[in-house]
Amino acid sequence: MKTLWVFGNQLSINSEGFSKIDREEDVILLIEAKSRALWKNYHKNKLVLIFSAMRHFCEELRHQGYRVDYRQVESFQEGWDQHKQEYQPSEVMLHLPTDWMMRQLLLKWRNKQKTEGLTVSFLEEPFFLVKAHDWTTLLPANKTWKLDSVYRKLRKQFLILMENEKPIGGKWSYDSENRKPPKQGLSFVEPLFFSPDEQTKEVIDYVNKAFSENPGTTDQFNLPVTRQEASEALSHFIQMRLATFGDYQDAMLEGEPYMSHSLISSALNIGLLTPLEVIHQAEEAFHNGWASIAATEGFIRQILGWREYVRGIYLRAMPEYKDVNFFHHERKLPQLYWDGKTKMNCLHQTVTEVVTYGYSHHIQRLMVLGNFANLAQVNPQDVSNWFNTMYTDAHDWVVLPNVLGMALYADGGCMSTKPYISSGQYINKMSNYCKGCHYDVKQRVGECACPYNALYWHFLMTHEEVLSINPRMRMMYTLLDKMSSEEKLKISNQAKIHLALLDKGQL
Ligand code: SF4
Repeated sequence: MKTLWVFGNQLSINSEGFSKIDREEDVILLIEAKSRALWKNYHKNKLVLIFSAMRHFCEELRHQGYRVDYRQVESFQEGWDQHKQEYQPSEVMLHLPTDWMMRQLLLKWRNKQKTEGLTVSFLEEPFFLVKAHDWTTLLPANKTWKLDSVYRKLRKQFLILMENEKPIGGKWSYDSENRKPPKQGLSFVEPLFFSPDEQTKEVIDYVNKAFSENPGTTDQFNLPVTRQEASEALSHFIQMRLATFGDYQDAMLEGEPYMSHSLISSALNIGLLTPLEVIHQAEEAFHNGWASIAATEGFIRQILGWREYVRGIYLRAMPEYKDVNFFHHERKLPQLYWDGKTKMNCLHQTVTEVVTYGYSHHIQRLMVLGNFANLAQVNPQDVSNWFNTMYTDAHDWVVLPNVLGMALYADGGCMSTKPYISSGQYINKMSNYCKGCHYDVKQRVGECACPYNALYWHFLMTHEEVLSINPRMRMMYTLLDKMSSEEKLKISNQAKIHLALLDKGQL
């Protein structure tokens, strides 16, 4: 008898392992381990998502005639020991997860099992288009890594939005058309939400009792937890909301946490959807005339380009990558990231949404949360830990490159050619947050000056030595050079006041 061990982020019946087992003979092992849920102080919604999706997956498998051993235990070790004793498998198969820590533990575990005479087979994790070993060629050790070249190769390889070996529409990227600021009267079609069924309600009760001190609330849990629900959510997005995704994908509006974002990442990252089906459905929508090339390409680039690329970076750069701190930032993560208590409206709105839903969209993550953490010189590992903890779609492989590399430039330029920093001006242009803010986005100094402004220039001054030589930073340093010494001093002093207030929880 063989065992197929399936983890909580691998919930797909189409994985390779399922083609290698006998439905009547072999057993699928699912372990709901409390100790894994305690690795980090996860948002309650994240725990509900994983536990509920696992329990639903178990039901679905049993319904299809599979033998399933579902164990609710303290640790993976306890679950495995119990399973081994009861079933005495001759072989165990599992899809090797991308997350580095899990890989290390499983490699050690395999060696131990081998000494005890058990065959352990590792299969390729099926939730990505690029095979793990192909990243050595796609991201060679001695070259600069770039998303664009990887994305183009993958478009050609998988024949996505291609015509006669050329990109449909003539351009590889329509990014420049997808950055419109919000305008008056903008409204969006609501995403498809799912009310918790009895199984999910049971999990919600369990999480609220067993993890009562964890951040977040389960009051608004509405995510898909089955393959069926995830497919419905995807179809709804493709048919009803993809068309408006592109134009305003970088805009931010108070009270509109979702806008036209797809909200499929939490389902995709635990195996309820496959990247290829998501891409093919989006492509079909374009061919059916439901969405423009700009909206379709912008969305497909997130999945085929960005999602694959960050996983590639993770596989190539770990374990050193987790400790990068290019700017030597050491401030502790401010309390406001946990409770949203701040007079800065952009941060208050965004953090409140994260606490409520375990979600915010990519520009809030990058230009409000990541940008502020960088300007305030917060330790990058504290920041990535927070993202890893608070988002329902967060997994180590996606968080580390996105946060340490893209948002914080803590890797010194491995992921992006310059830091994504901005003053309050960008937030004012792309959102309506500043209208309701205690601070004045137009002021650089003074009690009511927007903190992003002084902190932005202070950041540039602090890191002038390493950043002014970067050609992509030239314009910013030209502007800084035009400032008088008095002005620079005033800004620096203002930034220090903001940071002191931040440390006291009074900003
Ligand atoms: Fe954020 Fe500054 Fe705008 Fe306030 S004024 S919302 S702190 S960018």
